[in-house]
Amino acid sequence: MADPFKLADRIHLLQPSGIRKFFELGQSMKNPIDLSIGQPDFDVPDLVKDAAVNAIRSGKNRYTVTQGIEPLRKALKERYAKRFKGVEEEDVIVTAGVGGALLLSFFALLNPGDEVLIPDPYFVMYRHLASLVGARAVTFDTYPDFRVTAARIAPFITSKTRAIVINSPSNPTGATLSEQDAREIAALAEKHGLVIISDEIYEEFIYEGRHVSCREFTGNCIVLSGASKSMGMPGWRMGWMLGPREFIERCYIVQQFTFVCAPSMAQHGVLAGLNADFTRHLSDYRRKREIVCAGLSKKYAMQKPGGAFYAFPRLPDGVKADEFIKACIARELLVVPGGACSTRDTHVRISYAAPDEKLVKAVSILNELA
Ligand code: PLP
Repeated sequence: MADPFKLADRIHLLQPSGIRKFFELGQSMKNPIDLSIGQPDFDVPDLVKDAAVNAIRSGKNRYTVTQGIEPLRKALKERYAKRFKGVEEEDVIVTAGVGGALLLSFFALLNPGDEVLIPDPYFVMYRHLASLVGARAVTFDTYPDFRVTAARIAPFITSKTRAIVINSPSNPTGATLSEQDAREIAALAEKHGLVIISDEIYEEFIYEGRHVSCREFTGNCIVLSGASKSMGMPGWRMGWMLGPREFIERCYIVQQFTFVCAPSMAQHGVLAGLNADFTRHLSDYRRKREIVCAGLSKKYAMQKPGGAFYAFPRLPDGVKADEFIKACIARELLVVPGGACSTRDTHVRISYAAPDEKLVKAVSILNELA
């Protein structure tokens, strides 16, 4: 008899996230130094919590409209209209996290067999979402400086390419896009009729210069962002996406038949926090970046991250990633092997969104191991 629970073929293309594994391991340890998971160590601002609690108490517990509550869409539209040309309220959709926005955009854009270009190293979800929709994730190498440039992308464009994923600042490398590179990538997308899927979830975590988006230079770009990192609320599932109206309207339909809407109380909370001052967290994170980068600079080759809260040092020559990770675990230090977010296994990802004293300890363990 055939197995009634025989899984669909697409499920076999998905492997469990190499990062979540460490998260779960951390949960089972007594007092680990957990630098494995990408979530801020600060809490949701009180004004955001209050607004969400008020929303619950005042009965805003029903479905919202699929595209997101009007005042939030309006506020997002105003925010983007300051940076980009020709933005209308209808160009914005509120989603269940940036993960939700990625899913909607992959579903709406990619046919089975289409190719989507992804910088290596990458945020793991991109590859797996491509598999879920039957598309092919084609990675392009950005080692050793992790710059995403038109010259690195161009050789991988084929007649099947539909989209390029850009993630600046990057998870896992912290690399940021320069204005010149963004301009050239925008021109490349226009030349080949491609869509840039610009994941800007770390846009508030920029330590030098300003945040640059390809959307400044082309309309062939959808912008995905959210509050998981900037407001310290990955558990609230709040994201949004900006794109051409007709595309966004198609995404409503996908959302209607999947998540329905982003959580109602979270939308009200985020609305209250959208223009909150973020400077204090930024200076804290700049200091944390310094603890890790300066601390490891003698023993590890590393590109100084310009944004996000990740460092991606290279393991010393001859060191095997799995043995290194095992040695870290033996000292209750959790970091992520580069192989979980790359086709190479030569680096480790350190999330420095952690208390300073833990970072100091981690640096000392990593230097000892090197
Ligand atoms: N994009 C990147 C680059 C991320 O690092 C993450 C989370 O780690 C996400 C998207 C998913 O964000 P969300 O929690 O808002 O779904």
